[in-house]
Amino acid sequence: MTRVIFLGLPGSGKGTQAAVAAEAAHIPHIATGDIFRRHVREQTPLGKTARQYMDRGENVPDDVTIAMVRDRLAAADAQPGFILDGFPRTLPQAEALDRLLGELDAPLEGALYLKVDPEVVVRRMTGRRVCPKDGAVYHVESNPPKVPGICDLCGTPLIQRADDHEEVARHRLDVQWTQAQPLLPYYSSQGKLREVDGLGDVAMVTARVMAALGLRAG
Ligand code: AMP
Repeated sequence: MTRVIFLGLPGSGKGTQAAVAAEAAHIPHIATGDIFRRHVREQTPLGKTARQYMDRGENVPDDVTIAMVRDRLAAADAQPGFILDGFPRTLPQAEALDRLLGELDAPLEGALYLKVDPEVVVRRMTGRRVCPKDGAVYHVESNPPKVPGICDLCGTPLIQRADDHEEVARHRLDVQWTQAQPLLPYYSSQGKLREVDGLGDVAMVTARVMAALGLRAG
């Protein structure tokens, strides 16, 4: 499968798994959260709009998000396929994606749902630290940097994303849990849903993800 979306709560590990699978399949990993964060960093007009929602843990409005994804999927590198991560998150977004891919005559092939317990997710999110310079991601328990609080790659002090603070993280989970629920029956009724157990170490989960997508490592 090379036209795929990854579903799962924030902190489910779907970003990590989507990156590995995209590399193995030689297709782009398109993460809407990363694209929004880049716009925020670069202070583009889109970034200024998105930031107001992101810092509160709310979704950026559908029209803004859908337009951004439409542009990204039109790029040359996405023509052989893509893994979308963090989009769609709502039923209107899922319907918009189907319309968009229908126009391109390249329908979605699979929706991979990485399933994890919400409490596990809260621990993963609140322990996450990121490098503001190069975007490297660490976790205070499961993937700590060599020197606490410092990026291994560039030596920059790590930060906690505003939306990874516990209160915001819980709110973000609530919002996304509620909004994502209708997506599971939506893709299941299309015969595209693949459920993968997201518990376990990264390599174990990767093996399950690759099998579900019909990909081979290496
Ligand atoms: P993430 O990195 O996927 O957790 O996304 C971080 C933030 O970006 C979210 O809390 C939203 O504010 C925004 N965002 C990312 N993807 C979407 C989407 N598909 N729809 C609306 N907002 C999004």
